[in-house]
Amino acid sequence: MRVRFSYLDRQFADIEPYLADVRALVQTGRFTLGAPVEEFERRFAAMCGLPHAVGVASGTDALMLTLKVLGVGPGDEVITAANTFIATVGAIAMTGARPVLVDSTDGFTIDPRLVEAAITARTKALVPVHYTGNVADMPALMDIARRRQLLVVEDACQCIGGMRDGHPVGFWGEAACFSLHPLKNLNVWGDGGLIVTGSADLDRRLRLFRNHGLTGRDEAVVFGHNSRLDALQAVIGSRLIDQTSFITSRRIENAARLDRGLADLAPQVRIPRRDPQVKHVYHLYVLRVERRDELVAWLRAEGIEAKIHYPVPVHLQPASRALGYTDGDCPQAEADSRCVITLPAHQHLTDEEIDYMIDRVRAFYGAGS
Ligand SMILES: *Cc1c(COP(=O)(O)O)cnc(C)c1O
Repeated sequence: MRVRFSYLDRQFADIEPYLADVRALVQTGRFTLGAPVEEFERRFAAMCGLPHAVGVASGTDALMLTLKVLGVGPGDEVITAANTFIATVGAIAMTGARPVLVDSTDGFTIDPRLVEAAITARTKALVPVHYTGNVADMPALMDIARRRQLLVVEDACQCIGGMRDGHPVGFWGEAACFSLHPLKNLNVWGDGGLIVTGSADLDRRLRLFRNHGLTGRDEAVVFGHNSRLDALQAVIGSRLIDQTSFITSRRIENAARLDRGLADLAPQVRIPRRDPQVKHVYHLYVLRVERRDELVAWLRAEGIEAKIHYPVPVHLQPASRALGYTDGDCPQAEADSRCVITLPAHQHLTDEEIDYMIDRVRAFYGAGS
């Protein structure tokens, strides 16, 4: 049996409705902004329970543009997690601000206890990452942010549909940023991103900034970027968005099935603590395991596309050299880089495929079914 990480072919097996929408778009000839983007933005904002959503070219741009519009730039420091996809940190660096990397908890999200110690007079913003699809400890982080007057921008690129204490991601920060990349939970046919916010003013400024600062064809009120969400991707997004609850609930069921099938393998396989306050959407199903590299090789030989997110934490990447971090600065992220494994949890996996993964992991550790 083969178990792949992603099943775009199964997801888009019935492609005709999408193509009909694309055909209709091509007939209008309106490929930039316009009604399709506005409709998708409206529906995405509604899904997040917030009044505004702004479509942009990628999740990375969503983060960078939001920080820039909020006034983050050279001379500022922005605190985020060392355990994240490189894009979070790249987006901060592209504003000219200095990224300050803080270690994570057992749940792979930034540790609020370490945030306070990382704050300096230059700290302007905090970017918690809802990494793997788990929601960061926002109540604790917002408490710090209010006391220390920090802006908060949530990196929700891995967490569409995620909730904590009954609130959807985006509830806490100035804004939350999402990615529509083909490997993300809600995925279009290329790159795309969105920013959701409760602030009409931030919404207005982001709309200017993503489109050259233009108020109309002939007037630019600020200098800006070209970072629009393509109308084509908005059309695909509008058709897909109705599947979000299916995607989320299937991923949660798959993760629960994996958890049940592997729980007794501790301490060789350690399942992260599942916080009952959080609706974790399992963009990534990550475990900590013994003999990680051997297990990855074994699973791959058995046809299972296991991955590692990530073998080198951001603070130890060559790109971070100028930030001056060394081994030992983020012990949890460093230990995780040596023991984490990501198993497929895609919404189009079958129960048989999940059970095959469970069986193969158990066999590796010499445990019966
Ligand atoms: C994917 C991702 C991004 C960037 O999104 P893109 O659309 O690929 O630019 C940022 N942060 C995190 C945590 C991500 O997973």
